[in-house]
Amino acid sequence: MKIIDAHIHYCPKKPYFDTIAREAGHENTESHLLREFKRLGIEHAVVMGNQTLDSDAASFPESLSWCVGIDERFFTEETPSWWYDRTERLLASKACVGIKLYPGYSHHYITDKKYEPIYELAEFFHKPVAVHTGATAGTGAMLKYSHPLIVDEAAVRFPGVRFVLCHLGNPWITDAAAVLDKNENVTADLSGILEGNPSMDQFLKDKAGYLSHIRTWLEYLDRYDKLMYGTDWPLANMEGYIAFTMSLIPEKKWDQVFYENARRIYGL
Ligand SMILES: [Zn+2]
Repeated sequence: MKIIDAHIHYCPKKPYFDTIAREAGHENTESHLLREFKRLGIEHAVVMGNQTLDSDAASFPESLSWCVGIDERFFTEETPSWWYDRTERLLASKACVGIKLYPGYSHHYITDKKYEPIYELAEFFHKPVAVHTGATAGTGAMLKYSHPLIVDEAAVRFPGVRFVLCHLGNPWITDAAAVLDKNENVTADLSGILEGNPSMDQFLKDKAGYLSHIRTWLEYLDRYDKLMYGTDWPLANMEGYIAFTMSLIPEKKWDQVFYENARRIYGL
């Protein structure tokens, strides 16, 4: 089976990412990442940029695609036109396959007026806007901004923009399913639901009720053409995440969820 990981991070030489990579049974280096991809049959990946629009934004491994990350600094700096110009320039490149927003970590709703020129660019370049939804790491974030229901309003107000609910809004799975069901321009990735490197047999047993809840709402939705495999690496162990995702998705839908949907949605 061919696999595309539709949601990873690439932040080499950052102590925080070094630590979480080790906890997930990985090393936070390009060589380790590419070696693991080869070992597990992962053909391609989409990096969610966390380095905003500084010069690092485009310094990802050449074999990977990436989304330009727009974080809270977008609101605190005084030159929005610079941000729009730079986003436009990056979106024009083939390797940049979308935009990533970080509501929750950013204390603004994605319906904020300041995002409107960003959405115009996404529509013009036919590239999706991936939105962090659901739980956040750390205590500084605010959950009201990352609730998946906010994406419903954005999807209605910007019907020409395609949105991706990152993390399926976890733990607001029911709300995410409602947003996906209603809006043809919204899809989701399944990253970041499992973290670290737990023993998979034990995890599937201990969390049986929670996993059954997710499975139930994915069955209710019945839109396996809208779901993409993703890990949030280096937060999660890649091998474990494949087994975890297989446990959530019916086998006849694996080709779609593990590969075809990401190709279509991110134009890979
Ligand atoms: Zn992420």
